[in-house]
Amino acid sequence: MKQDNAKTGVKHAMNPLLLQDEHPAFADIRPEHVAPAIEQLLEQADAALERAVGPEVALDYDALSAVLDVAVEALNHAWGQVSHLQSVMDTPELRQAQAEMLPKVIDFSTRLGADERLYAKYKALAADPTASQLSPARAKALSNALRDFVLGGAELQGTARERYAAIQDRCGTLSQQFGDHVLDATDQFSLLVSAADLDGVPDDVQQAALEAAEGARLDSGEPAYKLTLKAPCYFPVMQYASQRALRERMFRAHHSRASELGPAALDNSALMQELMQLRQEEARLLGYTSYAQVSLAAKMAPSAEAVLQFVRDLAQRARPSALKDLQTLQSFAAAELGLTELQYWDHAYASEKLKQQRYSFSSQEVKQYFTEPRVLQGLFELIGRLFGVSIREEKAPVWHPDARYYRVWRKPDAADGGDKPVAALYLDLHARSGKQQGAWMGETRCRWRRPEGSLQLPVAHLVCNFPAPVGGKPATLTHDEVITLFHEFGHGLHHMLTQVDELAVAGIAGVEGDAVELPSQFMENFCWEWEVLQGLTAHVDSGEALPRALFDRMLAGRHFQSGLHLLRHCMFALFDMRLHAEPAAANRIQALAQEAWTEVQPLPMPDFLRFPHTFTHLFDGGYGAGYYGYAWAEVLSADAYAAFEEAGVYDAATGARFRREILEVGGSRPALESFRAFRGRDPQIDAMLRHQGLV
Ligand code: ZN
Repeated sequence: MKQDNAKTGVKHAMNPLLLQDEHPAFADIRPEHVAPAIEQLLEQADAALERAVGPEVALDYDALSAVLDVAVEALNHAWGQVSHLQSVMDTPELRQAQAEMLPKVIDFSTRLGADERLYAKYKALAADPTASQLSPARAKALSNALRDFVLGGAELQGTARERYAAIQDRCGTLSQQFGDHVLDATDQFSLLVSAADLDGVPDDVQQAALEAAEGARLDSGEPAYKLTLKAPCYFPVMQYASQRALRERMFRAHHSRASELGPAALDNSALMQELMQLRQEEARLLGYTSYAQVSLAAKMAPSAEAVLQFVRDLAQRARPSALKDLQTLQSFAAAELGLTELQYWDHAYASEKLKQQRYSFSSQEVKQYFTEPRVLQGLFELIGRLFGVSIREEKAPVWHPDARYYRVWRKPDAADGGDKPVAALYLDLHARSGKQQGAWMGETRCRWRRPEGSLQLPVAHLVCNFPAPVGGKPATLTHDEVITLFHEFGHGLHHMLTQVDELAVAGIAGVEGDAVELPSQFMENFCWEWEVLQGLTAHVDSGEALPRALFDRMLAGRHFQSGLHLLRHCMFALFDMRLHAEPAAANRIQALAQEAWTEVQPLPMPDFLRFPHTFTHLFDGGYGAGYYGYAWAEVLSADAYAAFEEAGVYDAATGARFRREILEVGGSRPALESFRAFRGRDPQIDAMLRHQGLV
């Protein structure tokens, strides 16, 4: 089809979302292309599903894949382009076109994931004598598919099946309401104060509060400033407002949102209880004793007990450092700020003052050294040395003049001849309107040995929101932004350097949820290496590399209060896992919060604190029984990085081993096996503690 179009020159007459060219026609896609293309691909995918489950498609991996995977991948590929464009170049028309198709796309993927006939066919395939001849990657893809069918309720019959569907439905509604309540409770609070009340608060925050008050006046006749609990207002007030009573009032309001201490209509108490009861019931229907087991079925951590032990151990190790952090803060606040009995609403304020006094360096000054072209050049060189690839810019259609396209070449092994392409990459670094906040790596295309035999290479897009260049000078990045870039490149390398040919387990696909951040967090470490920073920095005016004295000051502040931060994290993780592992937890959520706090935190919990009521990760975000995953992956990434610290940051043999055992194998085998193959042993916590400054 591709060749025919090229020959006859009618390429542009065709809907660009239906092209299967190497480069998606990003520049040609218009909102009016969305509905016809997606409708057509949905129809084809539906027809493929019907064919695949019927007798004409043999009980054979390739035969099934040629019919079903090809059609589903075409749909996902086109839909991926639409979603991507909506994230980076949003317009009302495109948003509407996407919103129109979204329910249909979701409906298809739900039906696909719960199709009993397809499940039966996969089961028969797995039970067939020929299954023993499947490649390990295929066997893994098949067992993942069967697992997901079971977790999706495919084994259930009759009333159990109906009940399962009803639970899914109700949980979706409850989660949505939970999130809405948090938003509404946050929005509902406001406080009018005077300019004097805002002593210490940064000017831009004050200005925004003045504008938010829309000319309102206080009883005294002074202009009013409107404070809210939204992040851009709440956090600066807690950090900078010198008025203790104001901080207390804001703190109390913030930490009792969406609870029985506020308006009854926004109280999440009953919602949480019902949600937890339903999750528990769902687990029992699926044959598990707790929802924690359901969540852990597709994760690296073996059991709830193992997670609890991990979290408690981590808390114990962080405790001495946290106590020291706390003591330092208390004596600083007493001596320098006159705050003798440090209260919770003083912590952020006193910490900010302490940090300024001890570790002050201007992030503005640091930023001048991280010029974007130099950072990219240094990053590409590092990746080249470690993983034996080179990244070179090429021309390809893009969605915005800012976006750039690169091809990734594998350097030849001795007798291999010239470089060969292994992947491609789009970079879109600068903030602009119509672009979603944050930074992410997305899969434009996945590596796949297609059923007809051709090899499809992986393509990634890396999207950030860094400042664009101004005044003819190169753009400059803060150190945090450089870390973000390295993080996303870690995900990108995982996706692009995979050598697995099986779509469902190539790259990031199929990797356990609590291990998927290994390569990304791993890459962040290089941003703290003096040797690496030399190659990453060139002052925007002088071209000089980062001076050592400035780097030392950055290093000194790196672990500021990391013990306290880690304890807080452990407290949330402990609460989450107990909540989802203990059978009666639904009826004692606040009590459980109190217990987790008391077990981990050095100071008692304030009686008005209701953190479960706004814990959207757990009740509205898919992290139920998974919150520990951040710390879990951090252990893996720190321990993996320690291999480089031992052998030398640029050690090529260690880099090649990381590429081979972690990046290339993707989800084709359990993450623990990959880790062992790279490190020669099980993961150890020591490197993480050292990196966090705890030992
Ligand atoms: Zn990440």
